[in-house]
Amino acid sequence: MAPRIPKAVKAPGVQYDFWAGVEYLRDYGGLTAAEFKKITLLDCGISNTKRGRACHKNGKYYKFYVPYWAYLKEDIFLGLEVWPIRSNPNTDRLSSLFVYYLAHEISHVLNSPKAKSHGRRFYEIFTRVCPVELQHYELTYKTKTASKYIKELV
Ligand SMILES: [Zn+2]
Repeated sequence: MAPRIPKAVKAPGVQYDFWAGVEYLRDYGGLTAAEFKKITLLDCGISNTKRGRACHKNGKYYKFYVPYWAYLKEDIFLGLEVWPIRSNPNTDRLSSLFVYYLAHEISHVLNSPKAKSHGRRFYEIFTRVCPVELQHYELTYKTKTASKYIKELV
């Protein structure tokens, strides 16, 4: 699937790793098979942008992306029980920050476009989808709202 996202990183290895990350959330996080299927129907991938984003139109999410810098970041959280196994040019593994970032954007996509962006409903989805050992990243990204819903793990 050709990703229709801004500044898409089209290298086959990167796209492969993107899906390895989504599979990781299904196999080691709480992403259901039906949700995984839904994601395969969206425009999505890794973008050379500052931030990731999820976009909706006509009451439906249709696109999301995660930034390339997060993918390249060498950041393996020691608490990770099963490390993502796919190759990354820098680390030989998926970055745990990247897998977290993916869980964050996917949580938007699974939320109602009418719901508050980072509200209670979003965090109900996020804390289910994102492996527990990666949820701490949310505290540094959205500290104020996240700390209401995410327990400090370390
Ligand atoms: Zn967000």
